[in-house]
Amino acid sequence: MIVIYSEEHRLQSGRSELNDGQLVPCYEKPERADIVRSRLEAVGIGPILAPEAHGPAPLERVHDAGYLGFLQTAWTEWVAEHGDWDALPLNWVAPGMHRRVVPRSIDGRLGYYSFDAGTPITAGTWRAATAAADSALTGADRLRAGDRSAFALCRPPGHHAGRAFYGGYCFLNNAAIAAQSLRDNGAARVAVLDVDYHHGNGTQEILWERGDVLFVSLHADPADEFPYFSGHADETGAGAGEGFNLNLPLPWGTDWAAYAEALAVAAARIRAFAPDALVVSLGADTYGGDPISRFRLLSEDFLRMGAALAGIGLPTLFVMEGGYAVADLGVNVANVLTGFENA
Ligand SMILES: [Zn+2]
Repeated sequence: MIVIYSEEHRLQSGRSELNDGQLVPCYEKPERADIVRSRLEAVGIGPILAPEAHGPAPLERVHDAGYLGFLQTAWTEWVAEHGDWDALPLNWVAPGMHRRVVPRSIDGRLGYYSFDAGTPITAGTWRAATAAADSALTGADRLRAGDRSAFALCRPPGHHAGRAFYGGYCFLNNAAIAAQSLRDNGAARVAVLDVDYHHGNGTQEILWERGDVLFVSLHADPADEFPYFSGHADETGAGAGEGFNLNLPLPWGTDWAAYAEALAVAAARIRAFAPDALVVSLGADTYGGDPISRFRLLSEDFLRMGAALAGIGLPTLFVMEGGYAVADLGVNVANVLTGFENA
């Protein structure tokens, strides 16, 4: 399985995020991609290639033009206003307030285009995010060229980023961008399966009215867990997308036995949809040792997850999302990929 990886991920290296009432070191940090890369090298999963540049067009197919422009200049504007420290938003729109006017000040626009205070914009955010999107797009190209699978080692991750908002450590929705690229290059239907611990609220928002791209997500119940306002079972899509969004929320403490049952439901839905390709938003924060998550999967369970994903029987692009137990992240991600390859 070819791995696509860019050194530019290092350019996203935030100093702090707001967590549990304190500014703490960022959980989403360069060491995450480093340990995954070195584990993949150690197990010999396949050649590691740099992404090819795809330019702005594939990003514009998924994201709002005003939002993309904001992301490109936000850091420069922030530094001019506040100096050289991570840019974090301080307030957001509430019911009864208005979004019709995009604020002029950088602070206003940070709130306008975001939904949390855990996602710092830094000097290198735009370059790192576009390199991650290019990695996902290069992975999609590999499927089109006939590969059975590919792994885009994207960092920063993407599944919380919507058409015109960032948050949850995500800026560009790598999985949605790859799915759209597959559609634009001949696939009649594409499925996106999100196995990250957190609901892929950005992917759901982007695909909400799409009947040609199925979104299925297994995640912690949003009644208890981030992102709180997205991911309930009764969110099924709208318009042409009605019935093409399947959320499978699971309780805190979920272990492999319960997870595997939900994964079988997801797999059956995807098979019934009969897509030409599958994009897997691969977060490993379902691991029992994850510092910000509350499922109980073990490292060996990720081998079983990979085998179950192979059982769906589709050309599959894996896109890296979350996973914050850094010491074990390489093993857990490699286990999914080897479980898939050996099935
Ligand atoms: Zn996550």
